[in-house]
Amino acid sequence: MSLTQDKLAQTILSLQLEPELIELRASQIRIDVLKTSGHMKDLNFRSIHARDLEFLFDSYDSRFLAGLVRRSLEGAPLRFRLSPRMTRSGGTTTRFRSRTGAVRYEIAIASSMLFDGFGDEERDVTVCGWPCATRLEALQRIFEHELVHLCEQVCWGNSNCSGTRFQEIASRLFLHRAHTHSLVTRRERAAESGIRPGVKVVFECEGKRLIGVVNRITKRATVLVEDPTGRKFSDGLQYLTYYVPLLSLEVVKTTSTSF
Ligand SMILES: [Zn+2]
Repeated sequence: MSLTQDKLAQTILSLQLEPELIELRASQIRIDVLKTSGHMKDLNFRSIHARDLEFLFDSYDSRFLAGLVRRSLEGAPLRFRLSPRMTRSGGTTTRFRSRTGAVRYEIAIASSMLFDGFGDEERDVTVCGWPCATRLEALQRIFEHELVHLCEQVCWGNSNCSGTRFQEIASRLFLHRAHTHSLVTRRERAAESGIRPGVKVVFECEGKRLIGVVNRITKRATVLVEDPTGRKFSDGLQYLTYYVPLLSLEVVKTTSTSF
């Protein structure tokens, strides 16, 4: 551990700010982001750019940790990415180490989750134990969580948000009370509309109406449609596999049988 990294470690293990001060700094960052970003125009912004994540990083680093995180990287590249494909976690922070020993870091934020998370319907969204009324608040809580991951990785080479050290740092630095979120996942939204594995669905493909069975749900649903030209499955039938956007699927109403 270098001197700067050691200083960062000491700081995140001991820094104790008043809750009011923590909230104030987070609000100042919120105001700065909206003033500076070319994409995020209001609290429930409709678009976001990886540069906005970099701006968030520098704001948090300077307002909370006196620029120690950037300095502790000691030139190791830190990349920011928006991931429309992540369907479970709000973000990820990864430390890559090449065969030559070169280290680089990446923070990815699940844009799909953020944009799905604040739909038209009322729903309580909590991130890291905090109710979030707006998309920007949710993003900040996710980002703070990832920043703790990054700090741990820089200082100790590993990070685990179910561990005591992480939770203790996240709670002191950002008042986090949990390391989970209740952002709506696509899976969850799909389940609400009745789309889940095993359910019969109808959808349109190249002008044809096809009926199939949902096999798996990620960003899209995998639907198996019986077809004599398809691959043979272990149930003895042949299926073609389709990847269908969830919104294009309709559940086939089955007549209920009463016993
Ligand atoms: Zn985590």
